[in-house]
Amino acid sequence: MKMTKHRKEILDQLEHSEDALSAADIHAALPHINLVTIYRNLESYVSSGVVTKLNLGEQEATYEIQHEPHHHAICNKCNKVIHFSVDDETLKQEFSLPGFSISNVEVTLRGICIDPTC
Ligand SMILES: [Zn+2]
Ligand SMILES: [Zn+2]
Repeated sequence: MKMTKHRKEILDQLEHSEDALSAADIHAALPHINLVTIYRNLESYVSSGVVTKLNLGEQEATYEIQHEPHHHAICNKCNKVIHFSVDDETLKQEFSLPGFSISNVEVTLRGICIDPTC
């Protein structure tokens, strides 16, 4: 894959962020790259599996680097997103369907967080 300067800058933003970022967040950090270009590059990273797109309800979609497969818990009140890992082998057994071979499991939990500002 040819890596243009802009593509690299967009990926750098995601790499150096603790949280998942929306295209608008990235645009705010990289105002010289146009928003459409940012979207296009993000989508292309998503299709190549480098970046995961999170559609978490009402908010704008956010993107994060796929370091390793993990799951999300979302607070219904403040929209805080918690990233967590569990043993995927256990999950696969838990969800085992006859006649279906699971390659990965993605879990999104919804609830209320314990953040005092929530
Ligand atoms: Zn909360
Ligand atoms: Zn995550």
